[in-house]
Amino acid sequence: MNELDWLLRGCRSAATGEIVQIGIREGRIEFVRPDARPGVAGPAALADSADTSGGPPKAKRVFDASGYVALPGLVETHIHLDKAFLTERMPGEAADLKEAIAMTAALKGGYSPEDIGARSRRLLDRASRFGVTRMRTQVEIDPILRLMSWESAAGLKKEYAGRIELQLVAFPQEGIFWQPGTAELLEEAARAGADAIGGVPYNDRDSLEHLDYVFRLAESFGLPVDLHLDFSDDPEQLAIADVIELTKKFGLQGKVAVGHLTSLGSAEPDTARRIAAGMAEAGIHAMTLPATDLYLNGRQDAYRVRRGLTPVKLLLDAGVNVVFGSNNVRNAFTPFGTGDPLDIALLLGQTAHMGSAREARLLAEMCTSRAAEALGSRGTKGLEEGEPADLVLVKADGILDVVYDRPRERIVWKGGRRIQG
Ligand SMILES: [Zn+2]
Repeated sequence: MNELDWLLRGCRSAATGEIVQIGIREGRIEFVRPDARPGVAGPAALADSADTSGGPPKAKRVFDASGYVALPGLVETHIHLDKAFLTERMPGEAADLKEAIAMTAALKGGYSPEDIGARSRRLLDRASRFGVTRMRTQVEIDPILRLMSWESAAGLKKEYAGRIELQLVAFPQEGIFWQPGTAELLEEAARAGADAIGGVPYNDRDSLEHLDYVFRLAESFGLPVDLHLDFSDDPEQLAIADVIELTKKFGLQGKVAVGHLTSLGSAEPDTARRIAAGMAEAGIHAMTLPATDLYLNGRQDAYRVRRGLTPVKLLLDAGVNVVFGSNNVRNAFTPFGTGDPLDIALLLGQTAHMGSAREARLLAEMCTSRAAEALGSRGTKGLEEGEPADLVLVKADGILDVVYDRPRERIVWKGGRRIQG
C-alpha cells in the first residue's frame, strides 16, 4: 500500500460508536477500520499497535485522536452570507416575516462589495472553525443590488475553495415578476456558474407563475432547484403541492430542495401525510430552518402559540430526506446564531422532540451525510472508503456530547489537508 498522508488513531466514529483508525491519502479516505489499541499516545505506542492484517500502515503523519469523535465535514445547507451581521443596522426588531423582508431590503442601499465581502468572510471563517467544509449560500439578485452580491459570492467561492466548498444559489428574494429586470439578472447568474436556481414564490405576484419560471430556468441550465417555500403558519399555503407536480413534470427528482416548509406544520395530519408521501416519491429534500422558523412564525397566535416548524418526524417517517440549516446569523430574520450547525442540531432536537441517542445520531447525519445528499454533492456516505477526506474531530466522548455540548475544540480536515486545530 502506498504511504498514507495521514493516519488518525483512536477516535470514536460518530456513525457506529466504535473506536477506529482513519487513513487518508490523496484527498480521500483510504480506510476506516477498528483500532486495536484505543487511547494510545506517542509514536512508540502507535508503532506497537500494528494492525494484524500485515503490519502497521505507513503514514507521513500520525495523529493521536483518542478523546475525539470523528464526523464527516459539517454541511451548512442553507445560509445567507450577504445579509449576515446586520443587527446593529436595524431600527428595531421585525414583527413578522413581511417586516423582516422590508427591513432588510431597506438596508441594501448601504451595501458595497467591500461590506458584503467583510460580513460574508466573518461568517465563513467562523463556520470553517466549527468544521463546516461545504456550504450552500443563497445569493440575493434583484434590481437594487443587481449582481453585486453575486460577484462577491463568486469571488469567495474561489477564495475559500481549500476550506469550504461553496455552492451558490441565484436567489430572487424580492420576487421575480413584481421586480422587472430580475429574470434577466437570474439568467445572467445562471450563465455565470450558479450551482442552483432559487425561488421565493410567497414573495411575488403569483406563486405558480414564479415556480414555473424557476423550474424552466433550472431545466434550461441543467441545474437543481432550491426554494424558500410555504414560510407561514397558514395551513392553506401549500405551494409544495405545485412543487411536487413540477418536480415530476421537469424530471428533477432528487434535485429539488425546499427551505422552511412551515405551513405544512399547521396542516391537518392527513393532508400533511399525503404531501409528505408526494415529496418522498419525487425525492424532494426538506430543509428545516428552526432558528428563523421558531422566531418569525407563531406571531399571529395570541395563545397556544404554534412553533411554526415543518413536521420533521412526519416527513422522516414518510421517507423524506430532512436536513437543517442556519439560514441567517444576526439579522431581521434571525437576530441570533453562531453559524455552528451543531447549535441548530441541538435546537432542532429540543423543538422537534428528538431526544434519543438514535436521534442524536440522526441529527448529526442531518448536517453531514444527509445534508450532502440534499446538496447533490459527494460525501453522502459519510466517513467511508473512497469518500472525500473532509472530516471534523470533535473533543467529546460520544455522539450525545457532540450534539448536546457542541464542544468548540475541533480539528478539521478538508480534502485531506488539516486546516484547523
Ligand atoms: Zn433562507
